[in-house]
Amino acid sequence: MAFMKNPVRSLLLTELLSGLALTLKYFFKPKVTLNYPFEKGPISARFRGEHALRRYPNGEERCIACKLCEAICPAQAITIESEPRDDGSRRTTRYDIDMTKCIYCGFCQEACPVDAIVEGPNFEFATETREELFYDKDKLLANGDRWETEIAQNIALDAPYR
Ligand code: SF4
Ligand code: SF4
Repeated sequence: MAFMKNPVRSLLLTELLSGLALTLKYFFKPKVTLNYPFEKGPISARFRGEHALRRYPNGEERCIACKLCEAICPAQAITIESEPRDDGSRRTTRYDIDMTKCIYCGFCQEACPVDAIVEGPNFEFATETREELFYDKDKLLANGDRWETEIAQNIALDAPYR
């Protein structure tokens, strides 16, 4: 019986008033919530999001098909096939990532000698089917083209710590 324990407090509604005072205090403070998806919070330059394959500024693919990323991937999510071009350079003919297997460890990015495969800042790539998460080379290159500005910026920000 709370009323019997402290009748004066209950009679004067002090708990209710202190609760209202607390509400009023926070009413005028800056809001900590975000109106997602219209507002987004900052993310780290090291954030490991959706994968992308990058190009050089002249449009050439960075990837040289060394397969280090495929070898190091602990989830065996990456599949690469390659062939030499007419000019003797080696490029991939197939670069698939099964995003349903990926654990976003970032090892592929760390292993890549030419910063070709990266985990970009995009975290909004939920799908309705599994098939949409089987990424091929075209999808990964398109991601790279779309996010190149942010990816290059993040790599530059992180460079002093490597
Ligand atoms: S982030 Fe890790 S699990 Fe995902 S593809 Fe790269 S190496 Fe494999
Ligand atoms: S993405 Fe990088 S590590 Fe993977 S095959 Fe291409 S060059 Fe090698």
